[in-house]
Amino acid sequence: MKNKSTEKVLYITAPVNALVEGLYRENTSISEIIKKGNFGLGTFDDLDGEMVILEGKAYQLKSDGQAYKVSPSQMTPFACITQFEPYSFEEVDTSINLKELYGFLDKTLPSKNMIYAIKIEGEFSYIKTRSVPKQESYKPLVEVARNQPEFSYKNISGSMVGFWTPDFMDKITVPGYHLHFLSKNLELGGHLLDCQTKKIKISIQHVARVELSLPITLDFMTTDLSRDITKDLNEAEN
Ligand SMILES: [Zn+2]
Repeated sequence: MKNKSTEKVLYITAPVNALVEGLYRENTSISEIIKKGNFGLGTFDDLDGEMVILEGKAYQLKSDGQAYKVSPSQMTPFACITQFEPYSFEEVDTSINLKELYGFLDKTLPSKNMIYAIKIEGEFSYIKTRSVPKQESYKPLVEVARNQPEFSYKNISGSMVGFWTPDFMDKITVPGYHLHFLSKNLELGGHLLDCQTKKIKISIQHVARVELSLPITLDFMTTDLSRDITKDLNEAEN
């Protein structure tokens, strides 16, 4: 049994329901979140693309499908980060799609009431992603998500980076599996929609603690966040 103080923490910059209600600027800098860990995902202020943090480096996967370097001063309205030191590994060298991959993870994860950081690296015969386009004016997330560019790649190597979070965290994070993809050459990626694997290695680490920031911004302090966002979040993220 590990000492509480050495247990891994999932740091969340803001509850996801604020993002669902259209609070796309929460002004937490990348330099701040990188202090909290080396692995994670999220988005950027004004919903300017998807975020991947892998091996301590942040990448911005913009709506052109390309991956860009991130400067420490860039801001995020929502990101989840942890220190990733996986201890459990699985290898799959059969061809399975995303639904089957989730089924495999369902059988592998010891409890659905725990948080897991999950990295899946390897070769894929097919990857489908999407990236949210930068918003110039306010639109609810569910509407933005209806008009987001999607990308398909064949025979590509890379990493899926993300988390399993329990259903009871559904106003704080995207519940269930949430993975972003970054190509091995660090040039392409986005929010993962589907895949067909060739040969993959799955690395898993449980996370038993959560640190949640509540942004001290006028928008956050004054927006009604009591609405049930389950349906919107489901539509926007799946
Ligand atoms: Zn995502």
